[in-house]
This record gives sequence, structure tokens and C-alpha cells, in this order.
Amino acid sequence: MKKKKYSAILADLDGTLHRGGALIPGAKEAYEELSRKGIKWLFLSNNAARTAPDIATRIRQFGLDVSDDQVVNSTSVLFQAISEKHRNARFLVVGEARLSRGIEEAGAEVVEDPLSTDVVVAALDTGLTYDKLRRAHVALQHGAQFWATNTDGSFPVEHGFYPGAGSIVAAIATAAGRQPDLVFGKPSTGMAELALEILRLPRTSCLVVGDRMETDILFARNAGMSSALVLTGATKVTALCKYPYGPDYILDSIAHLAEVMG
Ligand SMILES: [Mg+2]
Repeated sequence: MKKKKYSAILADLDGTLHRGGALIPGAKEAYEELSRKGIKWLFLSNNAARTAPDIATRIRQFGLDVSDDQVVNSTSVLFQAISEKHRNARFLVVGEARLSRGIEEAGAEVVEDPLSTDVVVAALDTGLTYDKLRRAHVALQHGAQFWATNTDGSFPVEHGFYPGAGSIVAAIATAAGRQPDLVFGKPSTGMAELALEILRLPRTSCLVVGDRMETDILFARNAGMSSALVLTGATKVTALCKYPYGPDYILDSIAHLAEVMG
């Protein structure tokens, strides 16, 4: 396998580092070995139901010694965008309570009334109701912008998959007859730009590791970074021919990462 000198790994979580509540075998050892060699790790999650520090806590529970600022998720980029440019906007949230709290902490107002909404934000919402879809739809009809944290159709759990944010975004988009104006998660490049700000490294020295072609591998391609697909999550190697793009490396799991690091 060809090797290249990378200085940082941008790793996906669900399906890559762990699958539901189970750490991928060998992941901790790979993290520790490469960290010892001076490789920087950032964990990139599309998950908008948890904050970045919550996600860091979860990774530490798996036994990996990571700090809060080693995690970037789709809401990290959303909150940064709000605090820098959209503090005066009023947000109607189809998402978890934590997302609403984060939007308020970023300096904007969260509203319930679709007629006084500037932006509808759609995310994973385990308390989704018809009423929330209805209010989002009314707001969009009245000219609100449509933002999505991410568009993953499903996410892996220990014994299969659950519906993801993308299923909810699709419901709103179908009703409205339009796609989101802005998406913050992979494969959009917002998280890559934030990661590069944190790492202070050129993009060519970053390796993206993930389990999904249409999020992780496309993200790497959009961001101008190399990528490694792991086969512990959503993608079977036989499905690769369906895509017009491909990863630089294909690995059985994250445990084999050291094999491609020069
Ligand atoms: Mg994944």
C-alpha cells in the first residue's frame, strides 16, 4: 500500500471509531500509537444531537484520552456562523433541546412562531412531531431560510441503523419542494475550514477517515484532502463502483490506519 506523510487525522465517529456503544477493536491502540508519533487527531461528527464537549466525553468513556477541542461537529460550525453573522436572526428549530440551547448561547433567538421565523434549522430530532414539521413548512412558505445541520439518511447503532437527520430534512424538503439553502455537516466543507483553523496545517497533510462515501469520502474530496474508507460502518466494498469518486485508501478498520501513514 502506498504511504504518505500525514500530520493530522480527521476521523469520523459512528461506524469508524465506534459502532453504537462498542469501540471498534484496535481503535484505541491506533489512536495511541499515532498520537505518540506526533500525529494530531480531530474527531468530526455530523451528530447535532450532542455538543462537541458531550461527544468528547463519550470518546473518553471509550478509553481514549482526548480533549474537548479535539471534537468538531456540525453544530460547532453552525454556532460559529450564528455568533459571527446571524445574531439578529430568529430560528425555528426542528431538533433536540440542546441544539436550541446552543443557538441561544451563540447569541440568537429561538422562536416557536413560524410567522416570526427567519431561519428554519433542521436536525436529528428524536421528539419529532407533525406539529414541528407543519411549523417548519409554514415558515418556509413565508420566506424563511432553510438550514440543515447534516443530511445523513441514517446512523449506525450496534445492530443496524436508525433514521438520521437527513430523513427529517427530506420530510421538510419534500413538503416545501426545495432543498436546504445551507448544510453544515459533511460533505459540506464548513467543518474542514474550522478543522484547518484549529490544526493550522495545510489541507494536503490531513487524512480524512470515515465509513460513508457520500459524507466522509465526498467531504475529503470537496475539502481537497486525502481519504481512507473503513469497512466497519455504512459502506460495503462491493458498493464502491456506484460512486464516481473513491477514497485514496480502503481499510478493514481504523485499527489499520498506521499502515498508510508514512
Ligand atoms: Mg460514520
